[in-house]
Amino acid sequence: HQDEDKLQEYMDELEFLAYTAGATVDRRFTQKLTQPDSKTFIGSGKAQEIRDYVKENEIGTVIFDDELSPSQLKNLEREMEVKILDRTNLILDIFAQRATTSYARTQVELAQYQYLLPRLTRMWTHLERQKGGIGMRGPGETEIETDRRIIRDRISLLKDKLKTIDKQMATQRNNRGKVVRAALVGYTNVGKSTLMNALSKSEVFAENKLFATLDTTVRKVVIGNLPFLLTDTVGFIRKLPTQLVESFKSTLDEVREADLLIHVVDISHESFEDHIDSVNQILMEINAHQKPMIMVFNKIDDFSYEKKDEDDLTPSTRKNVSLEEWKNTWMAKSKYPTVFISALTKENFPEMKKMIYDEVMKIHISRFPYND
Ligand code: GDP
Repeated sequence: HQDEDKLQEYMDELEFLAYTAGATVDRRFTQKLTQPDSKTFIGSGKAQEIRDYVKENEIGTVIFDDELSPSQLKNLEREMEVKILDRTNLILDIFAQRATTSYARTQVELAQYQYLLPRLTRMWTHLERQKGGIGMRGPGETEIETDRRIIRDRISLLKDKLKTIDKQMATQRNNRGKVVRAALVGYTNVGKSTLMNALSKSEVFAENKLFATLDTTVRKVVIGNLPFLLTDTVGFIRKLPTQLVESFKSTLDEVREADLLIHVVDISHESFEDHIDSVNQILMEINAHQKPMIMVFNKIDDFSYEKKDEDDLTPSTRKNVSLEEWKNTWMAKSKYPTVFISALTKENFPEMKKMIYDEVMKIHISRFPYND
């Protein structure tokens, strides 16, 4: 039963991703398999079912919650005769839409080409079919090879370009001197930008969509006469495509080089525990998991979903929990300093600010031991 809940949550997230990318979801299909089919990911019966549904209802795209192998993608597309997107492709598409600066665009473009390269044949067979209709010869192997080479060249060009920018950014970071640097980290859509705005009184783009922030924003924040730098970073997500982790290296460097991490959690989200795990997983991948951290549980004002059981404080059942009650939950017993807030209503801000101040001060003192 718990698996069933989890499955629905994953599908909710995928639907939210699809919505963020600009699609409306018509229907969900799920299937339990001990392991994915190597040829078509799902079983042939299920594939048939989806194919019929797609035909009947004139559906334009089928989205899968996992990354499909190039051959799975090709086989599914052939079998269902509809455009297939996998999770990676969907996330890359959102990133592409969101990339506004040339730096972010370069990062996304690199990730997209890396995704595309092993899937090139698929694209060509697809074109071949279309071209065949109007009597044109489909591209042969040599043309695919030429195309691969062009893409490879483009990839190394983009990598060089990123390297240059990375160097510039590293210099910029060094020039920031010995001011303490804190980075907001967290799952996508948890309220990092909102918190950033509230703390720095700046206007960072906040929106109820995934990945509103692709570029890092750095702001100077002063709490009780103590100045420090605060960075807002790209949101993390379950199964973040590896291509993106790689090409967003420099964005993630902000996290890697921060002195203090402020881990923001959306406590109103049913899967917030999974989100914490995903974030910790990525922190581990980029080797930033041993830094001082503050846990900020956000959105304590928002309990929009139903309470099933009176005295159960599980994520899906809480409602109108008081601050005191929060402080008695397991979340408050983490090894890190923990605080419960609402970035929207600014509830409990003084306590959070005091906590950040204390942690920043600790780092500041370790750096300037002889100053008062
Ligand atoms: P980010 O992706 O982590 O930067 O998240 P954003 O700051 O863009 O916020 C995502 C959504 O959550 C926006 O619609 C915010 O208005 C909303 N939000 C942020 N903080 C709170 C909060 O404390 N309470 C409620 N109810 N909503 C919040």
